[in-house]
Amino acid sequence: MITLNSTLINVAYLVASVLFILGLKGLTHPRTAVRGNLYGALAMLIAVIATLVDQQIVGFQIIFAGLLIGSVIGVLLAAKIEMTAMPQLVAAFNGFGGGASVLVAGAALMESQLVNTSPHHTFTVSTGVSGLIGAVTFFGSLIAFAKLQELISGNPLLFPGQQVINLLLGLICIGALGWIIIEPETMQPYWVLVAAASLLGILIVIPIGGADMPVVIALLNSFSGLAAAATGFVLQNNILIIAGSLVGASGLILTQIMCKAMNRSLGNVLVGGVGGPVADGAGDEIYDGKVKSTSADEVAMLFDTARRVVVVPGYGMAVAQAQHAVRDMANLLEARGVEVDYAIHPVAGRMPGHMNVLLAEAEVPYDQLKEMDHVNPTFEQTDVVLVIGANDVVNPLARVDDNGPIAGMPILDVDKARTVVIIKRSLSPGFAGIANPLFAADNALMYFGSAKEAILDLVTAIKDA
Ligand code: NDP
Repeated sequence: MITLNSTLINVAYLVASVLFILGLKGLTHPRTAVRGNLYGALAMLIAVIATLVDQQIVGFQIIFAGLLIGSVIGVLLAAKIEMTAMPQLVAAFNGFGGGASVLVAGAALMESQLVNTSPHHTFTVSTGVSGLIGAVTFFGSLIAFAKLQELISGNPLLFPGQQVINLLLGLICIGALGWIIIEPETMQPYWVLVAAASLLGILIVIPIGGADMPVVIALLNSFSGLAAAATGFVLQNNILIIAGSLVGASGLILTQIMCKAMNRSLGNVLVGGVGGPVADGAGDEIYDGKVKSTSADEVAMLFDTARRVVVVPGYGMAVAQAQHAVRDMANLLEARGVEVDYAIHPVAGRMPGHMNVLLAEAEVPYDQLKEMDHVNPTFEQTDVVLVIGANDVVNPLARVDDNGPIAGMPILDVDKARTVVIIKRSLSPGFAGIANPLFAADNALMYFGSAKEAILDLVTAIKDA
């Protein structure tokens, strides 16, 4: 058994906290994101080892055995998971964090009863808060996972009296929390609280559907951090309080950014029930006789006279794994003196930063990635916009429609460019399930095909032009 004095443990916690903060800072920019990730992982390693040693829980052999098993599971998961399934994985991780908080807080309460001490209010309140937020997070995340994995329908599930039931469950949770404080010597109130909070977690997430799902994942991520911070108070563990608060705060900031990007208030996301099923043939009227299709050779000719081209990647580019082909195409255009930029919408793809990750993987220079606010004013001076597997994030309906799932969502104004070429396999809708009038616009050309093959054909056509 290893023992270290408390000063050393606190120094280790301090180093881990600083690394967590540096890690978060690094994650704010693609250029520093990999380093940020490493800082975060190192911080977690230091925090886990310091805690195990501090609590004299295990010796070195067990720590290394645990690290080995955890690393193998982590590497296998990371290698196996599809990039497009990343939101589900994050939802599952959030859920495990919440579930762990419920179990740890419950175990701490049981332990306090066994040793027969009369616990302080800080302990009982944080135990209740940990159980409450942890259970909401665990069951909410399970539902989010099941929806994203298509184990259950992704449509909002609404029924009469839903909000009243949620309110009642919220009141039961508050009542049970008070009961824990008054009678900390029994486990009953804790289980009542966990049961009510679990049901609440399910009921909070089932009415959320369609285009609002990314916001829920960010919110549940924040909840898992808050639950961990509360557990930190239960265990009087500073690093858990700090790390949990950082996750809680950054998750909330991300939630706020996502709400803004989708033009939804958080309240509307949680109770709006946006994202219902789509009627078949929803786009027929919009597209009838107005859609013009094009070919690789025609697009290559357009590029021939273009001075500025903006690439707009979306979910389809991710599915087709076309990012490397896109980079090769851009290199060819640049070699011919064309200015190429990439327009990045904050909710393009299926997770925050999805497009940045893919383009970084293809070694596209960071300074060519333009955020929506910066690129939008430049579309009018752009000769050709090449939309690759994006749909909702370029849908002009968002500007005029008052009620649809993407109403008011800020979009990339690609329709203002001289010519827009859209690569996708059909006229099928995107995530929000609605038609896109862009495909029928006068300056739009549909280049039908799967993104990777379409771009590879385009590369050949550019070379031949
Ligand atoms: P969309 O989901 O709106 O559209 C993607 C399009 O890609 C489809 O219309 C599809 O058309 C096309 N596509 C699919 N496979 C291929 C392929 N192999 N080759 C070419 N095209 C393909 O994507 P966007 O990126 O525009 O928008 C993202 C949407 O996802 C938004 O509604 C957002 O709110 C939501 N969302 C975002 C998350 C995030 O955090 N970024 C998380 C969860 C949801 P076709 O079938 O005709 O090929």
